[in-house]
Amino acid sequence: MRQINTAFKLVKAWIKNKIGILQPIVLAHMVTFRCNMRCHYCDYWRRNSYEMSLREIETLFKEASDLDVAIYTATGGEPLIREDTCSILNLANDRLLHVTHH
Ligand code: SF4
Repeated sequence: MRQINTAFKLVKAWIKNKIGILQPIVLAHMVTFRCNMRCHYCDYWRRNSYEMSLREIETLFKEASDLDVAIYTATGGEPLIREDTCSILNLANDRLLHVTHH
């Protein structure tokens, strides 16, 4: 059922974009800049950046859902370093967003 819903949203977005109605498809979210890999060529892990609270993320997902966004991807930094990553992904899932991460 979830895949059908995602496929339907993607087709709808494709049609809308084809006729000139801009439709966002993917919500790419850097849930954190923190990363335990600390690669020398990357400066993400050196930043002391603000992270959205779970409540703010919930609002973000509601807005994405209202806009018919089909896919949510959690990225970073290392998303799994956040203690509440499972809650974030569950909230995305509850909003019928197809969840990916990298
Ligand atoms: S975010 Fe990626 S590139 Fe940057 S330190 Fe982490 S693993 Fe390395």
